[in-house]
Amino acid sequence: ADPNRDKQIEAHELAAKLYHYLLMNTEQGRSALSYLRDRGMSDRLIDQFSIGYAPESWDTLARFLESRQFALPLMEKGGLLSAKQDGSGYVDRFRGRVMFPIWNRDGKVIAFAGRALGDGQPKYLNSPESPLFTKSRTLYNFNNARPDIRKRRKVVLFEGYMDVIKSWSAGVHNGIATMGTALTDEHAVILSRSAEEVIICYDGDNAGRAAAMKAIPMFEKAGMTVSVAMLPGGMDPDETIDAYGPDAFLRDVMDHPVSAVKFKLIYSRKNHMLEEDEGLRKYLLEAARIIAEVPSAMEREVYMKELHREFEVSLDSLKQDVHAVRETMQ
Ligand code: ATP
Ligand code: MN
Ligand code: MN
Ligand code: MN
Repeated sequence: ADPNRDKQIEAHELAAKLYHYLLMNTEQGRSALSYLRDRGMSDRLIDQFSIGYAPESWDTLARFLESRQFALPLMEKGGLLSAKQDGSGYVDRFRGRVMFPIWNRDGKVIAFAGRALGDGQPKYLNSPESPLFTKSRTLYNFNNARPDIRKRRKVVLFEGYMDVIKSWSAGVHNGIATMGTALTDEHAVILSRSAEEVIICYDGDNAGRAAAMKAIPMFEKAGMTVSVAMLPGGMDPDETIDAYGPDAFLRDVMDHPVSAVKFKLIYSRKNHMLEEDEGLRKYLLEAARIIAEVPSAMEREVYMKELHREFEVSLDSLKQDVHAVRETMQ
């Protein structure tokens, strides 16, 4: 065992308790608590996710850690404190932010994401990478979601912390998210050890769709079956739940993911001007390439028939083109 590592974890655990206490029980935490309530979070949910508040002050956590004999330079390395410019000591890294603890797989706090209360920048401030916290391997909420993921052999990937939390309260107990950074191959491999299936439920805006396009091949490479739950009108899951309620979210979004192939076809379609001959032509050629990648002949036929019906291209010419692409794939 590494004593520095144990100390870091102990400090993070204590900091989470302190932040949570300050949020729930003090005057300083009041505006953060109403912010969370305005965002539809019950006290129970705040408790379950150990959400807290880091006050505006410069040294609330620094003094707390000092009084408990933690070595402050070590705390700086772990990202709880920042060194003052003039080298005269340490200040709190997180100030005036709603604090989301990030747990490792054993359920120990190893980092924080701090959200600005309003439009403050940056919107989310994360702990820096440290020996304790590697973003490319950490998945938010994996410790809580793992039993459900293993039971169903299925995991749901969200974009943001709030999406995970709100979906959890709607009944999605196999949801996780990356640390605001892109999905990595390591993440995909970690998830593939607990699940065969993944549903990507990223934000319904362009950025979210583009990120889903990038994530699909990574999961496929890890041997997982991928589908995509799409959200209406540029919203994210958290906004969708607020706007339509948890039941509608489960029924209309979570219960109807589209296959990865279908999602690629929809994505390609959005990116071409189908009203113009040239746009339509390019779309159809891209669609043939997407369909060519489907291993099952029966499934390929289903997708080709859809295109045939919708765009009045003959099934024969579609089959020929898809076949030609497949020839080049061997
Ligand atoms: P909220 O609902 O609190 O407004 P969000 O999750 O909808 O947040 P997005 O803008 O959709 O926020 O970003 C998705 C995720 O990307 C966030 O949850 C966070 O992990 C990360 N992120 C967003 N903005 C930043 C930032 N400025 N710095 C670091 N990470 C960020
Ligand atoms: Mn987004
Ligand atoms: Mn979002
Ligand atoms: Mn959001």
